[in-house]
Amino acid sequence: MSKTIQAVRGMNDMLPIDAPLWEFFEDTVRDWLRGYGYQQIRTPIVESTDLFVRSIGEVTDIVEKEMYSFEDRLNGEQLTLRPEGTASCVRAVVQHNLLYNAPQRLWYMGPMFRHERPQKGRYRQFHQVGVESLGFEGPDMDAEHIVMTARLWKLLGLQDVALEINTLGSAAARAQYRNRLIAYFEQHAEVLDEDAKRRLHSNPLRILDTKNPAMQALVEAAPRMTNDLDEVSLQHFEALQAMLKAAGVAYRINTRLVRGLDYYNATVFEWVTTRLGAQGTVCAGGRYDSLVEQIGGKPAPACGFAMGVERLLALLQDHAFAPPLAVPDAYVVHVGELADKQALGVAERLRDAGFSALLHCGGGSFKSQMKKADASGARFAVIIGDDEAQAGEASVKPLRGEGKQVRVALAQLADGLRG
Ligand code: ATP
Ligand code: MG
Repeated sequence: MSKTIQAVRGMNDMLPIDAPLWEFFEDTVRDWLRGYGYQQIRTPIVESTDLFVRSIGEVTDIVEKEMYSFEDRLNGEQLTLRPEGTASCVRAVVQHNLLYNAPQRLWYMGPMFRHERPQKGRYRQFHQVGVESLGFEGPDMDAEHIVMTARLWKLLGLQDVALEINTLGSAAARAQYRNRLIAYFEQHAEVLDEDAKRRLHSNPLRILDTKNPAMQALVEAAPRMTNDLDEVSLQHFEALQAMLKAAGVAYRINTRLVRGLDYYNATVFEWVTTRLGAQGTVCAGGRYDSLVEQIGGKPAPACGFAMGVERLLALLQDHAFAPPLAVPDAYVVHVGELADKQALGVAERLRDAGFSALLHCGGGSFKSQMKKADASGARFAVIIGDDEAQAGEASVKPLRGEGKQVRVALAQLADGLRG
């Protein structure tokens, strides 16, 4: 026998046993987004590499070392499996001119790919739900995003998820801050690791995002951006805070929060939990007012966020959440030649009436079929034996709790299940 083939490292199967949890999450998310008037967008999983280099930034973890890129076999085009959803979403909005006469509230859900070291809460294929609002300038939209995520945690029954916010200011403010940071890190060059040294002049803000424990003290003592912030960004940030307070959403300002992607400006935020160990950020986002223009569209302000589905599901499990089990309403048992002929039609009749039905397949004795009916979790067994088949009837046997078996004409079958 040849060696079995395994899934690629860091890429997981979603097995049937996990499906109820995923489906509960996805259903909740769809309802939640409908409640805020967001529309779905789906973009291809493969995009041209250049899209991500241009938007996420050349000197970032994602672009430097995490992308799955390959060359198109025929025309040599450089392609990449999307590592995140914002760039693709903005690309589609620009390409189809969706901002032509109205701003857009959009969402997406799907797999993302990053070549990271797999560990709990960190995979090479993972899933995100993302929300992007394009064409909205004011802090009211930043507030909407934060308030809506707070509602989602409530809908999911999640506790211990805390909000951290920060502002990155305008491009000019960041340029000024950048210089101060470079000067500071240059004074401590001996503590910088390889990544930091490489980024010192290209992208020093990234150094603040380091996960290297040996550099934490240095980063902690680094100058903060507060003094460089421009008036417009400060007002935006203060207005946002006032809205969060009015909405009763608690937050903590974290001046170290810079986010791992280059396209952010002004507001950035993360929702963090202490219940998942090192991989505690379950949702992250912010404003990216220059990205639409950078990708070739007419300038338009925008903001958005993305959440990590696997991390949120792990958090749900940590709350001992048990998703509602999907059990069929009826299991159709049939024994005898005539009954076998009728069974398919009886099951269809049940579905016509809005019931879910599992049709027994593969023959076998009445006893063995009833065992399967029981094991399926169905509420009723709908039984067709020779007698029933001759009479155009079926027996309905409640499988859970009390209630006695009744025999009904096929035309009345639905009533038999309604009790
Ligand atoms: P981290 O700092 O954990 O690497 P990030 O800043 O790279 O996160 P984002 O690009 O902001 O992550 O993605 C948004 C969310 O997607 C994260 O907060 C996290 O919940 C989730 N996420 C990111 N990378 C992974 C991954 N490799 N596996 C699972 N979930 C992930
Ligand atoms: Mg990352």
